[in-house]
Formats: sequence, structure tokens, C-alpha cells
Amino acid sequence: MLKISIDGRLLEVNKGATILEAARTIGIEIPTFCHHDLLSKVDGGACRICLVEIEGARGLEASCSMPVSEGMVIRTDSESVRKARRTVLELLVSKHPLDCMTCAQAGNCKLQDYCYEYGVTSGIYRDEDEKLDKPLDHSNAFYYFDENKCIMCGKCVRVCSQLQQREAIGLSGRGYDAHVSAPFESSLSESTCVSCGNCVSNCPVGALVPKRKEKFRYWDTKKVKTTCSYCGVGCQMDLLVKGDRVVEVQPEMGAANNGLLCVKGKFGFNFINHKDRLTTPLIKKNGEFQEATWEEANKLIASKIKSAKEEFGPDSLAGFSSARCTNEENYLFQKLFRGVVGTNNMDHCARLCHASTVAGLATTLGSGAMTNSNTEVLDSEVIFVIGSNTTETHPVIGSHMLQAVKRGAKLIVVEPRKIELAVHSDVFLQIKPGTNVALLNGLMNVIIEEGLQDKEYIEKNTENYDELVSVIKDYTPEVVAEICRVDPEDIRKAARLYASVDKAAIYYSMGVTQHSTGTQGVMSVSNLALLCGNIGKVSAGVNPLRGQNNVQGACDMGALPGDLPGYQKVANPEVIDKFEKAWGVKLSDKVGLTVTEVMNKGAKGDLKLLYIMGENPMMSDPDINHVKEALEKIDFVVVQDIFLTETAELADVILPAASFAEKDGTFTNSERRIQRVRKAIEPIGDCKADWEILMDIMNELGYDKEYSNPSEILDEIASVTPSYGGISFERIEEEGLQWPCPDKNHAGTKFLHEGGKFTRGKGLFKPADYIKSAELPDKDYPYLLTTGRMLYHYHTATMTKRVPGINRLFPHSYMEMHPTTANRLGLLNGDKAKVTSRRGEIITTITVTDIVDEDVVFMPFHFADGAVNYLTNSVIDPIAKIPELKVSAVKIEKV
Ligand code: SF4
Repeated sequence: MLKISIDGRLLEVNKGATILEAARTIGIEIPTFCHHDLLSKVDGGACRICLVEIEGARGLEASCSMPVSEGMVIRTDSESVRKARRTVLELLVSKHPLDCMTCAQAGNCKLQDYCYEYGVTSGIYRDEDEKLDKPLDHSNAFYYFDENKCIMCGKCVRVCSQLQQREAIGLSGRGYDAHVSAPFESSLSESTCVSCGNCVSNCPVGALVPKRKEKFRYWDTKKVKTTCSYCGVGCQMDLLVKGDRVVEVQPEMGAANNGLLCVKGKFGFNFINHKDRLTTPLIKKNGEFQEATWEEANKLIASKIKSAKEEFGPDSLAGFSSARCTNEENYLFQKLFRGVVGTNNMDHCARLCHASTVAGLATTLGSGAMTNSNTEVLDSEVIFVIGSNTTETHPVIGSHMLQAVKRGAKLIVVEPRKIELAVHSDVFLQIKPGTNVALLNGLMNVIIEEGLQDKEYIEKNTENYDELVSVIKDYTPEVVAEICRVDPEDIRKAARLYASVDKAAIYYSMGVTQHSTGTQGVMSVSNLALLCGNIGKVSAGVNPLRGQNNVQGACDMGALPGDLPGYQKVANPEVIDKFEKAWGVKLSDKVGLTVTEVMNKGAKGDLKLLYIMGENPMMSDPDINHVKEALEKIDFVVVQDIFLTETAELADVILPAASFAEKDGTFTNSERRIQRVRKAIEPIGDCKADWEILMDIMNELGYDKEYSNPSEILDEIASVTPSYGGISFERIEEEGLQWPCPDKNHAGTKFLHEGGKFTRGKGLFKPADYIKSAELPDKDYPYLLTTGRMLYHYHTATMTKRVPGINRLFPHSYMEMHPTTANRLGLLNGDKAKVTSRRGEIITTITVTDIVDEDVVFMPFHFADGAVNYLTNSVIDPIAKIPELKVSAVKIEKV
């Protein structure tokens, strides 16, 4: 520790701290423009506003980049400091339009604040003949750049390159002509910008400004901290609210996101107040929806539930809970179905994305979740990404990965498409879709053959190693290279790299899980980590990146047919006994139906009632024609949602739900962190929060438990769910906690399985042989279709298609096709093509790109026009019952 003095106050600070950091520890605020806690200090100090006086030094120093030294005596507010800061401001204002009255950023501008503080009213160096009329760059769909207002602090450039890991903007020109611009003076839309808006959020003045739908002044808004409602990263953000409208989003420095957001989090909020929102209950009469009161809708639903249950038994009903809704709502949904309806026929869209993770990791490690925390990747030595296009699907984690790579981490990427991470990788294995198990076996074969496994760890902490050795011995790099269509030397290289370091982390997603062998894929990932002892320590582990904002929470809450909250099994009599006592009801111990099984039962005409909360199977599920047939045959369908989705159109009753901005609760992100969701505005129209709707239906059915606030529901969850035992609103007010958090004194768990302790005892090797995908190309359907997500849209696009900027960029479905294939089919970029599988056909637009292999085509599943799930295969993994959304065979014709 070093002893220093700041403004006459003595203090001790860590070696390496800057003066700015030291001053902040005792509450002294020094003005800054270009400073950001996470940016390099080496290239800081550009704006000079943070100058301070150091006794004995010849001039003033920039406090953000100057480290403290023993005995330093610092003055942050002396006359010479104030004079220097005034001069800096006068210089800046001399080249700045003085239009604060009409500037969109008034009230959110540091230049304005500091000029007020230091009494600067005009620029004394102003050249009155100089015109500040450089054209604005409006080319980006979400924000604009006003060079006239840029103060050249360079913060946006450093945020873009150091945090977001883009080089979309830079400093061009020299001296007086220096300015911020996209490379080669191009427009922002021609740059590599991904519209994350992190430059916009960090611009201290009015140079980078969000495009606004409505006018507002910052002083007329209130900030409400909440959790992003899009992906499982769980970024923390502030909603800026004016009246009853959310008008802007700003990032928070949350543990999961380090102050970053992606385009969806930053700019994708316009759906909240969108005119298409459902605002009143609707009941279908004679094929037409008619407005109804809540009382009418609830009575109708309750009567249909009662009559179906009485006539056909509780298992003739089913429900889909929602990964978009809060933990409290998922808990109530499964309580409604289990405790009141009397069936375990309830599931949610985790069945379509990570059911194989839940099944696979629970088998091998005892817990089906990310073992480590989001930001631990920053310190990983090797990052192994398999089946995840992380920079697009979990963009903030993708940025953190790229930050780690810039600092020297090695990157291995296994993916069928040449994604952005592949460009930055040390080894890229562009595998044929559906061959993960073979590839992972090949890596383990090399590791064992070359003696690179962690023998001590295996001996002490695992079981079934001999079976692993026996299974993988045949998967030599040459054999695997043939199956996966990669170079055997790259397999060796990747295996050696992964096994060579202490902190090697695996990240995977739906490229591993959405296969008929998804569970084997997940268990093979786990085998690899156990083999090298790369688990149970910081910056390592097995990390399934969960897709939707609360898919982890929905699973944790027991929105699964075989699991009560906390993965307590319905087949376990002790568990049933515990919940019967807690809820005061009789429960079924029969494992219920999954999403895919519900649709099969529906299509046979055997399901009487389906209640869908916040899901859109008419877009998200495989083989949409089959889904449609099922929904049409089910006697009574209830849909509870915020928009009239493709599924809601087929419902008998629609209940209008509140969006995340209109309710309180919690989401659990991919790293098991339970975080607050806060009500920012009142529910739109007659909407109600999902938890209130569910409680009303329960009450209507005679279960008279009432909750006045979701915090009461969370307290109930904590009382019956061991891993959530220590969670309450109060404890997560400032920062979320990661489960397991068994009691009120527990600080949460940053990473799982420390010291080789697994929930199931020892880590289990569960080797598997490679099995081909269920449907592969043949002469009738010669192309392999794989599906996935893209950066800008989200899931079935119910929210993102209502964001004008996103729609402008990606308005309709498209298919990525290799140039050779396009040439063979006579297709050009932008042409329309008919794509047919054994299940359906669609028309889509061709995007010619060499990101895919010649016989592989890729489509994102977000779009209703040309919805790819008309084509996909509903064949399922027999263990996890997850459909093989990643591989189907299609033919393609020009139209
Ligand atoms: Fe939201 Fe995910 Fe983007 Fe973060 S990375 S802002 S959680 S969509």
C-alpha cells in the first residue's frame, strides 16, 4: 500500500492505482470525459479535463492515467487546476455548436455540466467564420453521429476497439483536422459496426446520439434498473421512462455484462409501447376474436379446465410455461398445473434448446447449468467454443471472449459455419453439422494417446474412465476427420491446445444440443472437461450458453414434466410428500408430457386443453404443419402473450400479458445469477402481469392462495427449493446472487464443482459412439439445412420485428448458400428460392456467402415469412426429447 495525500486528506491506496481511482475511494469526484474504468489507462488522458496538481511536479497531470506513488501530495481543486480545466472547456466550446437549448443530449452532457460548474459560457478561441456544419452521419439504423459536437476525447473509439472488440470507428486525420470516423472515411453503415450502441452510451456529449421515436428531456425521465429481456446473458440496464413510455435504455455495470449491451438490449425496446400490444382479453366467437372482460375470460378458462378434467382426467390437459417470463411466474404456472389442474403435463421451450443440457449434465455432473460465470472468460487461457455463434447469440459474452483473445487467450472454434469467432481462432474446425460426438471423441482420443489427460484428477474425482477409454479408442483423428470433414492435424492441434493449460473453458450452445444425439453431445463435452480436470475452478468449466432471458430460471422453477422446482423429481415420493404438504394439495407422481409429446397427442385428437404462456410454437417448434394440425385439433387453446402471435391466432382465448417493463420479479441468467426485474411503467391497457393472471385463474379454480407481490412468491420458492433457499428480493437488490445459494448467509456460488465435489458424488464419464443424424441429404433432398439465430432478431421475433431499425436491416427470412451451390442452382444474391423438405415448403431469399460449406445451407428461425420450421425435422433425442432442429434434408429450386 502507498501513503498519499489528496486535498489534504491522508489515505493508503494500492500500488498501481491512478490518482483518479484513489480520489474516488474517498469520495472526491474529478471531472472526466474520456475515462472508463475498464479501458486501458495507457492510452487514457486524452481529454485533459481530469488534470490535477502534484506537489513538486512541473506541470499538471491527467489523473486518470497517472499512477500514485509513495508520499504523493495531490490537489484536485486548486486555482491552477480550475484554471486549466476552464481553459480545456473554453477550447472545446470554441469548436462546439452552442445549441444546448435544442440539443437532444441536454441534461445528459458532461460538457454542459462542466461548463456550468466552471462558469464557461463561450469559447474564447472561437473563429466566428468557421462553420460548424459538417453533415450528420444518419446511416446507422439506430443512432447518428454529429461530428460538429465531437470533442475528440476518443472514448467511443476505445470502447469500440477495447471492449466491444470492433474497429468500426477510429481517429482519422491529423492535428486540427483530426476527427472520429468509420474506416476510410466511409459511413457508419459501411463499417463493421454491430450497432451495440456502447459508443453511444459512453459518448460524454451529443456527438453519438440514439435515434428517437419521441422527444424527451433527460430531466423529465426516471431511471429504473432492470434485467434485459432478450438473451440469457442477463445484462443489467436502466430503462429511462417518461410518463408511461420507455424512451431509452442505458447500460448498467452489472456483474454479468460489465457495462456492455448489444443492439437488442440497447435499441430493441420499442416493442414495449408498440401499438400492436394486446391490451384486452379476447374470446373467439364464430371464428372471430371479440373483446372480453377479465372476469368473462377467467370464468371461461376455469370452466373449460374443470370440464376437461372431470370428463377426461387431468392428463388430458397440458401447459407450456415460458422462458420469457419471470421465475415467480414460472413457479406459479407449474403450481397451477401440478397443484390445481393435477397433471405434470407441462414444459417450455427449453425442450427445444437445452433439454439435452439439463439431462446430460445432470447425469455426468449432477447439475445442468453453466459451471462458471460470464466474465470469467476474460481470464481463460484457452476458450473452446463448440456449436455456439457466441458473438451473435450471446453478444456480450462474445465480446468478452474477444477481449480475452486480444489479451492472449487461445481460441478453438468448432462450428459448421465460418462465424466471426472462427476468424479470430487459433484452430477452426468447420465440421459437418451433426458430427459433434465424433469430433469430441477424436479430441479425447488424441489426449489419451498422447498422455495429456489429468490422471490425478481422473483418479480422485471421476468414475467410469475405463469405459471412456474403450469407446474413444477407435476415434483416431483420421477416422474422425473423415466423419467431420476436417483436417486430422487440426484435431490434434485443438486437443493439445485444450489439454495444455490450467484454465481451459468450454462454451457450447444449440449446435451441440439440438440433435437426435444431443444428450450424447452434451455428455461428450462434459467427458472432455473431466478428462483434463478442467472443471471446478475459475475461468474453466463446461458452460452451456442458455438462449432466452429466463430459460435457466424456467427450468429451475420446475417448468419441466419430470421436475418440481430445483430439479426435485416428481417420481420421488419424498419430493411429492414435501410439496403436497407445502401446497396443501394432492400431486401426481407421473412424469408428464414434453412439448413435442404434447403436440403429438394434440395431433391425434387426444388433448382437450392447452394453455400456452409466452411461447410461440407456431414459429419455434419443428414441423409447423404438424403443430398447426395439433393446435387445430385441441378442443380449447389459451394463449397468454404480449402480442397476437402466430400461435395466438389459433387460440380460443387470448389473455393480454404485461411485458418485462411492466412488472416485478426475477430472471435467472445463464450463469445461474438471479437478478431483479423491476416495474418501470404501469401495464399497458388492461394487461396484467403473468403472475397476477395465473393467480386469478388458480383462485377461480378454487385454490385460494393470494400473493400481493412477486417477492412473496420468491419467498415461497426459497422455502421449497434448496438451491434458491437464500434468495430474496432484499438480498438481490444491488447485485444478483448465483445458485446454489442454500441459506440467507450464503454468498452464492461463482463456479460449481470446486475441489472435485459434484452434486452426484463423482464426475461421471458417459462416453457415446457417434450416430448419424436422423435425416441426411439424399438424391431427392440433396442439401443439409441447419438453423440458428442471428444477432439482430430474437427468437420468434415477436419483439424485435417491432423495432423499426431491426426491421429495416433484416425484414424477411433468408438462406445462406455457398457461391458454388448458388451457381449450380442458377441463384444470385437476393433471388427467391423455393425450399422443400419432407414436411413442408417455403419461399425465402438467397444470401450467397462462403460462410457455409457447399452442401450446407443455413437459415435463421426468426421470420414468419418463409418460416424455416416448416422444413425442420421433429425427430427427437430419446433421452432429452429435444428435436433435431440442426439437421434436415432439403431441395432448393429457383422461383
Ligand atoms: Fe440483452 Fe443478451 Fe444483448 Fe445483453 S447480450 S443486451 S442480455 S440481448
